[in-house]
Amino acid sequence: MRLILLGPPGAGKGTQAQHLVAKYGIVQLSTGDMLRAAVKAGTALGRQVGDIMARGALCPDDVVITIVEQRIAQPDAGKGFILDGFPRTVAQAEALDRMLAKHGIALDAVIELRVDEAALLKRIENRIAEMQSRGEALRPDDNPDVLHRRLLAYREQTAPLIAYYRRHGILRSVDGMAPIADVAAAIEGVLTSAPSQPQLARSSTVKRAAQAAKPGIGKKSKARATTTRRKPDPTAGKRSANKPKSRAKARPSSKARAAKRRR
Ligand code: AMP
Repeated sequence: MRLILLGPPGAGKGTQAQHLVAKYGIVQLSTGDMLRAAVKAGTALGRQVGDIMARGALCPDDVVITIVEQRIAQPDAGKGFILDGFPRTVAQAEALDRMLAKHGIALDAVIELRVDEAALLKRIENRIAEMQSRGEALRPDDNPDVLHRRLLAYREQTAPLIAYYRRHGILRSVDGMAPIADVAAAIEGVLTSAPSQPQLARSSTVKRAAQAAKPGIGKKSKARATTTRRKPDPTAGKRSANKPKSRAKARPSSKARAAKRRR
């Protein structure tokens, strides 16, 4: 099973990813976690992205694409994975398509957690205030200003992926504002339900394209086209398919015409 969880920061992608990990025995690949680990470890990558993340902006596409490509090639991702926080731009989604095609694998679904942004903002602001009052450590990007910027980045750069994956026929949307268990049940429901129409349409298009690419079938249709060209028929299009018989009746054979002339 290979999935993408799509939704703004705070929509519950991480929580739902954990449910899916437990249910399907697949790995959660969170680019946010990977980048935070790099910042914490003080690696060259961490130094490159630390400030960007603290500002609530998106890290460069090439950086994130490279870490995802390396990660999905690892053995534990072979059974399947949930991408949490990736892709976040159309360029990343296109890079992911190329990566998956290279490995001969495909996504099963992209699950969009639909949320009411105003309610979400309130929910996260409350959570931050509660954590602060308990003296708990916050992430550097866990403050209302940065959160606004992260939501803006989502709206401008990530939300277009909803249309992107809808066009691919693999988008499934669930209500992300429902209680956690209900969201998990809704995700389970969409994963076990029948594929949507666009996906069916797409698979038949793919089948047709594959058939056209088969040498035997390609030759056959070419041969048929050649036959049509070799026997041009000036009356084509003016008569229906069963007309030749009546035409043969109306027009005497050459033998009959010769006999008539002799008479
Ligand atoms: P997250 O934990 O997924 O909310 O990510 C935290 C931060 O990491 C984001 O605000 C970005 O700065 C950075 N980040 C995570 N994933 C990506 C991505 N796919 N593309 C660009 N930046 C990312």
